[in-house]
Amino acid sequence: MATEYDLAVVGGGAVGAAFAALAVRQARVPAARVVVIERERPAPWRPTDDYDLRVFALSRASARILAAAGAWEAIEAARVSPYERMRVWHASMAPRGGEALVFDAAELGEPNLGYIVEGRLIQAALHASLETLGVTIVPANVEALALSPDEAIVGLGERRIPARLVVGADGGRSRVRELAGLPAKTRDYRQQAIVANVVTGKPHESTAWQRFLGDGTLAFLPLANGQCSIVWSVASERAAQLRTLSVPDFERELTAALDGALGEVRLASGRVSIPLAATRAEHYVLERCALIGDAAHTVHPLAGQGVNLGFLDAAALAEVLADAREEREDPGALRILRRYERRRRPQNELMSAAMSGFNDFLALGQGPVAQVARRGMGVVNRLAPVKRLFAERALGVGGDLPMAARPPTI
Ligand SMILES: Cc1cc2nc3c(=O)[nH]c(=O)nc-3n(C[C@H](O)[C@H](O)[C@H](O)COP(=O)(O)OP(=O)(O)OC[C@H]3O[C@@H](n4cnc5c(N)ncnc54)[C@H](O)[C@@H]3O)c2cc1C
Repeated sequence: MATEYDLAVVGGGAVGAAFAALAVRQARVPAARVVVIERERPAPWRPTDDYDLRVFALSRASARILAAAGAWEAIEAARVSPYERMRVWHASMAPRGGEALVFDAAELGEPNLGYIVEGRLIQAALHASLETLGVTIVPANVEALALSPDEAIVGLGERRIPARLVVGADGGRSRVRELAGLPAKTRDYRQQAIVANVVTGKPHESTAWQRFLGDGTLAFLPLANGQCSIVWSVASERAAQLRTLSVPDFERELTAALDGALGEVRLASGRVSIPLAATRAEHYVLERCALIGDAAHTVHPLAGQGVNLGFLDAAALAEVLADAREEREDPGALRILRRYERRRRPQNELMSAAMSGFNDFLALGQGPVAQVARRGMGVVNRLAPVKRLFAERALGVGGDLPMAARPPTI
């Protein structure tokens, strides 16, 4: 009897849902042969809702991947906040001084550097695309996995789902990674990110603001309603203290932490804090099993790269499966899956190492260490080609991109 599914995707978060849609739309896997298993019903998104606390800075490559997955049109029509500039500076510099590193879309001949979008909206649009395509979404928690040379069998309580390939898109604490026995290394940053939405005294100028503090990092991401979403990463003890401060005391600390760059800051939402860790699976694939997104790697959020890397994984794996289909190859064969791992693991590891370096030397570095790192920032600022390279990577228009992420050719 033929295996019930070609693909069983565990985790219908942004990355898993995008992959499932790309598998059908791009790799031409019949929708009836794809199943997504997601344990939490996605929260609905309504235009009248306040901005969600979890927002992502999406690169242009991610927007293209979401378009290929059939979700970007709905996302853009609903609510996106394009940002045109990025201003990065160290606590020892003036926020608006010449030393600050500034990336400007206009200088690059681009309309913007990317988009700030709510996580809930991305997931809702992707699930709508999956429903339109006719992909089955099973609301269940994956508890077991058996991999054999012929098939993968995913266990949900009493139910068993056989597939030719299981894709673990189940986040940083991936059960699929653990059940498959794929080893991973984790670095606990002993930091937490405080996330909230705020009103600023001065306009945000459609600019993403980022200050390296000496004891962490503070980012203000501009939202289309004039507010900003903040991500304030500090040592866990300091985060616990900040979270319990009275609202006026927290606002005072926050205003000072941004060195008054956007005037007085007022909270427009509650505060949540998220523990930070970098996880790195040593291998992304096994016969009949592949990991994508946070299941394969989590990175420090200081440059907002996590989900962008995950979308690139999803697009690269879909492309590998499209090739396998053309070659009439088995999508779960290890030698096919290795093409995906070879393509994505070095790039993800480079980004993860860069984020850890920024955190250690710029965000936390003191004295001579910070001085050297700041000089590095100055070099990037002055050398136009280096600066352009950085900007292109942030935009997602450079490097080895999967087809779905590439700009249209004229
Ligand atoms: C403070 C902070 C700010 C960030 N900002 C940015 C940013 O600006 N830009 C950016 O690119 N990235 C950002 N990130 C990173 C981003 O949040 C993650 O990279 C992204 O959410 C990963 O998506 P994912 O789909 O791989 O995993 P997840 O979002 O974790 O989704 C996994 C899904 O799998 C489901 N699941 C888990 N286990 C099971 C199971 N056993 N059975 C069934 N279902 C299961 C879960 O319910 C969930 O829906 C940030 C992260 C943090 C902490």
